[in-house]
Amino acid sequence: MSVALDDTAPVLVGQKRWLIGLTREEIGQELIAAGVHARSAKMRSNQLWHWIYYRGARSFDEMTTISKDLRAELEARFHLGRGTLIEGHVSADRTRKWLLSYGSNQEIETVFIPEEDRGALCVSSQVGCTLNCRFCHTGTQPWVKNLSAGEIVAQLLHARDDIGEWPSPKEGRMISNVVLMGMGEPLYNYDNVAKALRIVMDQEGIGISRRRITLSTSGVVPEIARVGDDLGVGLAISLHAVRDDLRDELVPLNRKYPIKDLLNACRRYPTSSNARRITFEYVMLKGVNDTPADARELVRLLQGIPAKVNLIPFNAWPGAPYECSDDAAIAAFVEIVNAAGYSSPIRTPRGRDIMAACGQLKSASVKQRASEIR
Ligand code: SAH
Ligand code: SF4
Repeated sequence: MSVALDDTAPVLVGQKRWLIGLTREEIGQELIAAGVHARSAKMRSNQLWHWIYYRGARSFDEMTTISKDLRAELEARFHLGRGTLIEGHVSADRTRKWLLSYGSNQEIETVFIPEEDRGALCVSSQVGCTLNCRFCHTGTQPWVKNLSAGEIVAQLLHARDDIGEWPSPKEGRMISNVVLMGMGEPLYNYDNVAKALRIVMDQEGIGISRRRITLSTSGVVPEIARVGDDLGVGLAISLHAVRDDLRDELVPLNRKYPIKDLLNACRRYPTSSNARRITFEYVMLKGVNDTPADARELVRLLQGIPAKVNLIPFNAWPGAPYECSDDAAIAAFVEIVNAAGYSSPIRTPRGRDIMAACGQLKSASVKQRASEIR
């Protein structure tokens, strides 16, 4: 099923090592291996960090605070690529989607959802997903690999290059938020996701604060506590059903970690105060999970958890076994959840025309194979 690849080592392109996704210490070690004196490795690594993550340098040539000789040496040994752009799309609603490749059969999608003066970047954490949620397009695709920290950070660097957001602005950013809601289950790739997020949050570089980052999980219960303890980012839970029999079917991971265990993990989540509520995502599937009784049970389940509910109209994809609930069913559901005191925005589908909406992401290689079969 899967191709086991080394997902932690810096990628080699030709003989060049990839610096994206390394910690400052690891960059220092790479520099020492390249002949930089140990005494100056820390200072040099900080300089590189500034150029790479604050200024967005794509080549060593741009790094004018570093001597020409050293720049040439660095250029010969390292690279700062962002992966290969296979396709870019802009939706009628200005949502952007990029298909990026990190090697053969290793394509992922990254989506930018702009608002008036800000926006969220939806980042992928795996190529494919092991979890096969029945309503999710990514889940129909075989799992290929965990993305490395570099491959996760590079999605953000690429988006910033494209939107022209360098050097890292302190205020008024277009890419103001990051959501781990692209392809894959981030908590099945915890170490690389955590390493990537620490780079993204570093205040001397990209500097997106933990308050503006949300990690969405289908419910990998044993990993939830450390998302709060180690990273302190916002948590979103893909709940989608209020009874175990139905959730077992929609989100098969529920058979391993049932609703009760999942909600208990949420109750213990360290940032779950009223100021920082946990988001419960709930996809509206016609005739499946969208009755007033479901809404009332949802309210009952969430009692005692600082929560908000994010209702996601189902985004169809070719061959999907479900339909989106009617507007009236969604409105009735919202009313019950709101009346119980929970904010429950409906997530307006964005980028549907370019298949960039939630759960529509799928790599080009799979589309290609599917069209060959047809
Ligand atoms: N694997 C993680 C994060 C990626 S999915 C997770 O499942 O939480 C991001 C969100 O999109 C999840 O809430 C997911 O359940 C939802 N989603 C998946 N397919 C969808 C579809 N076709 N329509 C609407 N939402 C969908
Ligand atoms: Fe994987 Fe999330 Fe899709 Fe489920 S909804 S298959 S966990 S990406």
